[in-house]
Amino acid sequence: RPVVAVVGRPNVGKSTLVNRILGRREAVVQDVPGVTRDRVSYDAEWSGRDFVLVDTGGWASDATGMAARIAEQAELAISTADVVLLVVDATVGTTDEDEAVVRVLRRSNKPVVLAANKVDDARGEIEAATMWNLGLGEPFPVSAIHGRGSGDLLDALIAVLPDRPSSEPQPGGPRRVAIVGKPNVGKSSLLNRLARTDRSVVSDISGTTVDPVDELVTVGRTVYQFIDTAGLRKRVKEASGHEYYASLRTQSAIERAEVCVVIIDASEPVSDQDLRILTMVREAGRAMVVAYNKWDLTDEERRYYLEREVDRDVQAFAWAPRVNISALSGRNVDRLGKAIETALEGWETRISTGKLNAFLGRLTAAHPHPVRSGKQPRILFGTQAHNCPPTFALFTSGIMDQGYVRFIERRLREDFGFTGTPVQVEIRPRE
Ligand code: GDP
Repeated sequence: RPVVAVVGRPNVGKSTLVNRILGRREAVVQDVPGVTRDRVSYDAEWSGRDFVLVDTGGWASDATGMAARIAEQAELAISTADVVLLVVDATVGTTDEDEAVVRVLRRSNKPVVLAANKVDDARGEIEAATMWNLGLGEPFPVSAIHGRGSGDLLDALIAVLPDRPSSEPQPGGPRRVAIVGKPNVGKSSLLNRLARTDRSVVSDISGTTVDPVDELVTVGRTVYQFIDTAGLRKRVKEASGHEYYASLRTQSAIERAEVCVVIIDASEPVSDQDLRILTMVREAGRAMVVAYNKWDLTDEERRYYLEREVDRDVQAFAWAPRVNISALSGRNVDRLGKAIETALEGWETRISTGKLNAFLGRLTAAHPHPVRSGKQPRILFGTQAHNCPPTFALFTSGIMDQGYVRFIERRLREDFGFTGTPVQVEIRPRE
């Protein structure tokens, strides 16, 4: 689905407008259980068009570094969005900060729709009209609070949505890989190493166009599209050290990728932030490889503790292939290609309905669902609803215990493997 980024300086009403757009006509906010709180992109719909709305407004306003943050926000929006929705405050008029955003936006070729917010009455319409001076075309007067004008704004937005979003794979194009991890784990170093090892950042494969924030890099003998490498190369994140943007960039890279290489610093204790990123990848349903980097910095004692941390904290992700690497020395970097391929294979696996039901029959005969208040829900039939990641729909004679569903998930893995991929099991009770 195409991505719309909502951009603008603090207090212009971005979040209110986002809520307004999502709230209209029951536009869907998908509240997927387990999704991290930092989530800032929402599924939205208008006139039958689905799109993803990204709220880039999560930072508090402070005077210092404002200009840098605004540029950063706009740059991020450009690199990750198909369309930018710029929100300005009609009651204030255009400010230097608005103009700074516009300058950054103009350098991109992304369509921009201009919303002049806080237009609560007819007088506001005149104020809104002064926003023509931003040079972005017609300003759409809206009142995010009251809902005024938001229909026209959404119509304008839909009109410029591309048919095929840049985030969607081109049929037959290279596989999309994201290198993710907390700051300073060695993401940029790994990218540089990969690009150097094979002496090739491929800039062009016939018939494919790559988003300017991505790079084609060969690993082994396969060409991959590495996602948002501009973010890794330009070190945007450290420029302001703003964690919010790092997290937004990570989420957007994960969503655009088919397979994620999650980098963890082996020389330091595994942290909550590492686990959050692993969880983001799993929740997004992407294939995953875990690379423990800076292996050159580990001694025997550190490695001993690392294994204990991995057993204790990373156990839930033990299905992901693991590689111990050093981006600095190049150790094991050549094994990443194989791990990525294995993960993608697991991600694409299809199990025939016959095999699946034979498995379910054996399993439920040996381990039936526990009886609860006199009832025993049974699995009537199962089928693999999709792959990428493997997703199973089980039709049952009643609601199943979460614990039992997890048990089935575990057994599915034991029987069929699914290396490197999350597995989803959906229960569809039939009355
Ligand atoms: P990023 O923020 O994840 O992109 O991390 P960088 O690639 O910028 O690396 C952060 C720091 O860790 C830099 O000083 C790198 O030189 C260093 N570094 C990266 N990988 C390794 C490694 O394998 N071994 C060692 N010793 N240092 C590394």
